Amino acid sequence: MRSFSQALGRVVPLVLLIASCSDVPGHRTTVQFEVPVDQGGFWYKGNTHAHTTMSDGDSPPEYVARWYKEHGYDFLVLSDHNVFTDPQTLSGIVDSTFLLIPGEELTSSFDQAAVHVNGLNIPYALEARTSTTLVGTIQANVDAIREVEGVPHINHPNFRWSFGAKELAQIERDRLLEISNGHPTVHNEGGGDSPGLEEIWDILLSNGKRIYGIAVDDAHHFQGEFALDRANPGRGWVTVKARNLDAMMLMEALEAGHFYASTGVELSDIVITHDRLEVHINRESDFRYTTTFIGEGGRVLSESTQNPAIFELVTNIRYVRARIRDSAGRVAWTQPVFVAEH
Ligand SMILES: [Zn+2]
Ligand SMILES: [Zn+2]
Repeated sequence: MRSFSQALGRVVPLVLLIASCSDVPGHRTTVQFEVPVDQGGFWYKGNTHAHTTMSDGDSPPEYVARWYKEHGYDFLVLSDHNVFTDPQTLSGIVDSTFLLIPGEELTSSFDQAAVHVNGLNIPYALEARTSTTLVGTIQANVDAIREVEGVPHINHPNFRWSFGAKELAQIERDRLLEISNGHPTVHNEGGGDSPGLEEIWDILLSNGKRIYGIAVDDAHHFQGEFALDRANPGRGWVTVKARNLDAMMLMEALEAGHFYASTGVELSDIVITHDRLEVHINRESDFRYTTTFIGEGGRVLSESTQNPAIFELVTNIRYVRARIRDSAGRVAWTQPVFVAEH
């Protein structure tokens, strides 16, 4: 069993920390982005959250996997509630263009709070855990997944208004948080006194937590009518940059933030240099795009209607991330780029 830091050892060397600071009086301090050493590879589109008749979905695993394969996805995680579907049993669907990554939605609760944590690339069925506190319950399920070298992602915090930034800030060994979930009753946008998922994300980032935002379907309904009040597929996904369509490579890329999340906007590339973040948008017919660069506290740092949209690092900030919205309201979110510690 490897520890989290050992597991991340595969990822951390990809990031070259360049701190070019000068404490010499009269010299201006230079702020620079952390730049990934390797920005090459291919983009792979996948959904990490889908249900089948193995739990509360309406279609068998084979049907669900085929839906994603036929709709242009490169990989899929079947994540039933406390049920593990071995991809070996669906080997007829898997080929060089479509990968099934084993997974499960560890489904637990604390009092009224729903605690759902997806385990990606786990080797076998895991038992959901409970604990004596809400934070402890979330942590116990993250740990259960780490113990088998899987990758946890924490699901829909606003489902039943279960938990928020306060609890998430205390969780350790997690890197991925759902910021957009296609299920109709999970309250992505927040409301009343409760922040939306993007706001929660910025609170965590502003407090120094390194966490990446994913979009998922949480699909349950593949039969009958496709409607906004049903949990249909095709609403949220991640597009991951990796060298190959390989489960370990995709997991490492996800945990290093080498991906974007989307509800419909496609990017052709994200380029990070020491002083620039470039977002290259894959323009669709006559759609128009607005890119908002967001920093600490959710503050808008700048906005662009150009393609590529470019953010230039001129003042000291903690991080910047981009939200690209198209003229139909669909969105892509890049992962935060951090300014190197100095
Ligand atoms: Zn759930
Ligand atoms: Zn689910």
